[in-house]
Amino acid sequence: MEFDRRDIRGMDCQSRPGALESPWRETSDVLARPSVKGSHLSATSARITAIDTSDIRFPTSRELDGSDAMNPDPDYSAAYVVLRTDADDGHEGHGFVFTIGRGNDVQVAAIEALRPHLVGRPVDELCADPGSVARDLTGDSQLRWLGPEKGVMHMAIGAVVNAVWDLAAKRRGLPLWRLLAEGDPEWLVSQVDFRYIEDALTPERALELLRAGREGAAARTAALLEHGYPGYTTSPGWLGYSDEKLTRLAEQAVADGFTQIKLKVGADFGDDVRRMRAARAAVGPDVRIAIDANQRWGVAEAVSWVTALAEFDPYWIEEPTSPDDVLGHAAIRKAVAPVRVATGEHVQNRIVFKQLLQAGAIDVLQIDAARVGGVNENLAILLLAAAFDVPVCPHAGGVGLCELVQHLSMFDFVALAGTTEDRAIEYVDHLHEHFTTPVVMRRGHYTAPVAPGFSAQMRPESIDAYRYPDGTFWVADRARQEGGTA
Ligand SMILES: [Mg+2]
Repeated sequence: MEFDRRDIRGMDCQSRPGALESPWRETSDVLARPSVKGSHLSATSARITAIDTSDIRFPTSRELDGSDAMNPDPDYSAAYVVLRTDADDGHEGHGFVFTIGRGNDVQVAAIEALRPHLVGRPVDELCADPGSVARDLTGDSQLRWLGPEKGVMHMAIGAVVNAVWDLAAKRRGLPLWRLLAEGDPEWLVSQVDFRYIEDALTPERALELLRAGREGAAARTAALLEHGYPGYTTSPGWLGYSDEKLTRLAEQAVADGFTQIKLKVGADFGDDVRRMRAARAAVGPDVRIAIDANQRWGVAEAVSWVTALAEFDPYWIEEPTSPDDVLGHAAIRKAVAPVRVATGEHVQNRIVFKQLLQAGAIDVLQIDAARVGGVNENLAILLLAAAFDVPVCPHAGGVGLCELVQHLSMFDFVALAGTTEDRAIEYVDHLHEHFTTPVVMRRGHYTAPVAPGFSAQMRPESIDAYRYPDGTFWVADRARQEGGTA
């Protein structure tokens, strides 16, 4: 079948020289938009009625969980959003941004700034074409000044877009990975904004990749449901943990079936040597040990530090320097090979990922489900990674990031990359109990979710307890600190 670019609906909603005509160009009325391929929803008049937000914070800094060279005292937090509708099916769309404490209120305010774009929007149209809202939000002519497509505002857009996908998957009765994997390639391409990346990836090439990804997809779905998707664990490696705790958790990781662990490095070289030696002794020569500097170094320091740790056979060095320094990553990669270079959890958008790939700066691409503009932009990034044949090993952990990003890797395996070789999703054993459908690990693998949605929904009692500053935990905590009784 010939691919007609005009089939990619809404690929470019805004005028630009040489842009193809969009079928939606003639009108700004979302009701007039045609439904896209891949939609099987029956038409209703339901609309989005509310966007509710919560500032949710967990006191993780007290146990040094999550501590690294740049973030010594994170309180894992979520700026949480719920889309409500007047449909009689009872479904809500849940999404969130992960932050590490202070500033979570700023993130909530950014989400609230997007409210006018959503309230009143027809639910059928929204769920059939989440790309339309993604483009409207990133294209807001005034809010765009705060980015463009980066930082707090862009992360807020990601939360809202992810909530739309959660709602869409629930309404279809499918886990998100399956909604994507079973989507028509043409529809998936229509969900990607190719602006600024078309020099590296055209819609035609994306369609080729997705069509090729359909071959053998049914067998991969069956394999995924049976075996799950590989994970690796960072739980042993937080910088604030003692050597004894590191050793115990590293041994436990191997016993649990993990074939890769990760250690935080970069604060003190002597400590790193001692901790790497302990970790290598605990896991043996065959388990991969990745190391993660969380942006601690400049380029020259990264090269010398990683070179000095090479005797312990680190598998990759993650975030050796600023996530914005594309050419710095390229220089480090050249100097520290065969140690691989990985980054992505702080990469702001698809354009920087494009440059990292074009510059040959990374061996491992680390998407994050709640950093860029949501599922649609992560589709673009997965397609870029496939086009450049670079494996994707997502960043996860925090609060809820494992729950979200597993869906993107599983889609990637079933319908795009077609393999899990040299791929694994980060896993951290924190805070899963606060979600209604938490990840389930089995022998070091993520079990494929079967519940409809994006696994983004927190338990109401967790929200009531950890909402900041008025949740029951925080009220009692303040009372304790003030010497009163809770
Ligand atoms: Mg990291």
